[in-house]
Amino acid sequence: MQKATRQHTKEHNRNLVLKTIIEHDQISRAEIARRTSLTRTTVSDIVADLLGAELVNEVGVGSSLVGKSPILLSLAEDSRYLVGLNLAYNRFSGAIVNLRGKIREIVSLPVSVQDHEKSLAVVYKILDQLVKAAFQPLVGIGIGTPGLVDTRDGVVVSAVNLDWENFPLARLLRERYNLPVYVLNDSQAAAIGEYTYGTDHKDDHNLVVINIQHGIGSGIIINGQLFQGDGGSAGEIGHMIVVPEGGSLCRCGNYGCLETVASAQAIINRYKMEVYQSGELRYSNLPDAFNLELIEKQFNSGDPLARKVILEAGRYLGLVISNLVGSLNIHKIVIVGIMRPFGKPWLEAVCESVLRSSLSKPAQDTVIEIGQLDGNGIILGASAILANDYSLLFNT
Ligand SMILES: [Zn+2]
Repeated sequence: MQKATRQHTKEHNRNLVLKTIIEHDQISRAEIARRTSLTRTTVSDIVADLLGAELVNEVGVGSSLVGKSPILLSLAEDSRYLVGLNLAYNRFSGAIVNLRGKIREIVSLPVSVQDHEKSLAVVYKILDQLVKAAFQPLVGIGIGTPGLVDTRDGVVVSAVNLDWENFPLARLLRERYNLPVYVLNDSQAAAIGEYTYGTDHKDDHNLVVINIQHGIGSGIIINGQLFQGDGGSAGEIGHMIVVPEGGSLCRCGNYGCLETVASAQAIINRYKMEVYQSGELRYSNLPDAFNLELIEKQFNSGDPLARKVILEAGRYLGLVISNLVGSLNIHKIVIVGIMRPFGKPWLEAVCESVLRSSLSKPAQDTVIEIGQLDGNGIILGASAILANDYSLLFNT
């Protein structure tokens, strides 16, 4: 029993020192001791172990007002690699990511059919290529997938687009690649990606990240940890009902969900309908197949119908955000995904709607912004969840 406790303390201290090194570009042993309240001897012993494991490098000499100048330590960011995957609607991407979230190699393949075996074959194809790459050793595989996920067992409970139901994805990949595998919902991965690598979240203990793609979801960070709820589906805002009467049928079977008015497909359908109904000549040159890029172009050129559809989608999103503000009172909300090109005008519609439908004090205290990470936030988040489990870094 005592031995187990000693081992536990040792690991705890090691993680604390490693975390402190990760949080700084460069740091001395004395500064680590000061920040962690560990003794200098304990810190020196742990640093010796970390140097031995090649997780940390001595990178130079710092300045000191008194006495000897201290040697500075830094994370050896390319000493281990993680694999992150994003199983997005009709395109899967996977990447090798280093310990500082830098992407070293990326593979991306289209997925055209909703067939569970074909979906899995594409995952294998991407991973086969990545594990053969020159970046070694690999610590584990993290996957962000749409749908409902049982993260503890790594089972995709239901992902309609991929035709997966109670699908033991983690077990299959563990057996094939002999690496630890972690599967989580894509919006939850986006939240971890934004929290870990996004702009300026150093002072945010809490954060909500709203991910608008083919569907809409969110990830909630509370006290620096992902909050998944009792059943793992916390943040599933896409199916909150915003049109209680006369709403359109959603893929979940209900009517009037947020996804039916604010997702990519909903916006495209709505714009198409508005254009046809207007019967105006100026739309006769538009191509038959509408997509979001076309609507973006129309929006930027001031087309009133495009503006109406986009700003209305923003207002519906604002309604749901006001419910989040009311229930969670989290001050920072970051929106990522496909609406980014619609920028400020769209964000203003979102914010106005939040202000209109919330209590004024919590709404005024809330900052809503568009995420600055490029499309790789989900990959980064899926890999970061592994990097945060420090024990994996010592298994190589
Ligand atoms: Zn729904």
